[in-house]
Amino acid sequence: MNAFGENWCPSETTRLVARILAKKQKMVKERCVSEKMLLIEELQSHLEDEDNEKRERTEADIAGLHRFYPKHLEVPDHKDLLTLFSQVACNGFTMEDDELSHIGTAVYPDVALINHSCLPTVIVTYNGTSAEVRAVQDMKPGDEVLISYIDLLYPTDDRNNRLRECYYFTCDCLECKTKSKDKAKLKVRKQRDPIEPHLVNNMIRYARNTKLLKPMKHQLSFCKCILDSVAPPSELLEMCEQSLEKMGAVFDDSNVYMLHMMYQAMGVCIYMQDADGAIRYGEKILKPYSKLYPPYSLNVSSMYLKMGRIYMTMERHSEGITALKEAMAVMEVAHGKNHPFLRDLRKEIGQK
Ligand SMILES: [Zn+2]
Repeated sequence: MNAFGENWCPSETTRLVARILAKKQKMVKERCVSEKMLLIEELQSHLEDEDNEKRERTEADIAGLHRFYPKHLEVPDHKDLLTLFSQVACNGFTMEDDELSHIGTAVYPDVALINHSCLPTVIVTYNGTSAEVRAVQDMKPGDEVLISYIDLLYPTDDRNNRLRECYYFTCDCLECKTKSKDKAKLKVRKQRDPIEPHLVNNMIRYARNTKLLKPMKHQLSFCKCILDSVAPPSELLEMCEQSLEKMGAVFDDSNVYMLHMMYQAMGVCIYMQDADGAIRYGEKILKPYSKLYPPYSLNVSSMYLKMGRIYMTMERHSEGITALKEAMAVMEVAHGKNHPFLRDLRKEIGQK
């Protein structure tokens, strides 16, 4: 069921589907740049794998499409629309700014051909509306181009749950086979008497079920909308702190569930313009982030950027410049030296 209230607007996915339909209408047989290898209608769909919850969401989106765009669009029949929504859901890209704040959703059929690995060889960034793919490690001719579809912070089981939920497959990359980083990712607090395994498992279960910990669909970063929908910011911050205290009895500060919660808390502090609070969390996050993420990770560069910019507003210039330079080192590889983000960043640092 759908209620179209005064402030209702179609979802981001609905707006993207509407743009795809409008484009198809205009360019009957022409392929756009990203469709040279594959047309949008040739993208894989997982319609038959979708559960009821997903189907209901799509039905609501379709109702929104009919309500919002009735006059302008030639809308295909219901079955084809369901397929298109499913294609967009499992092939769509989340576009983010340099601090990983959500900008929008897009479909690039050629980039969608690239397979996933938890040890990606390339990174996708956006320059205007174009997607750019750059190597983040040495590659020889014949090496497979691999991107990551998900946030790579989390341990193997979490990553694969997410891949199955959103993309309907299980990853068998080297990291998923060896789980080499899982121990560091789930690091337990050092104590004289080791913590009992069942207590650790209970806490992992708690961390996974904590509402704040559930990542938003197709979204890696903190989103202001959760502030509007869940609770007032001060309450949200308190929830984060309580959760950190509870988990902190078992987990080390560098445990990914602690890091995730600190990241949420940092986002709330930034929203509340509490620079000291944001820096306090950020400083705890940075080092483990750099260790747990693969090299040239946008999650790491965006964290350095945030920190650098907060330091600058606090007039802690030398710390600010150091953090911004760390961000720049990653972004020069991930975004390329001529990307507008880099030009802006050089200006921020005061370099020519
Ligand atoms: Zn993997």
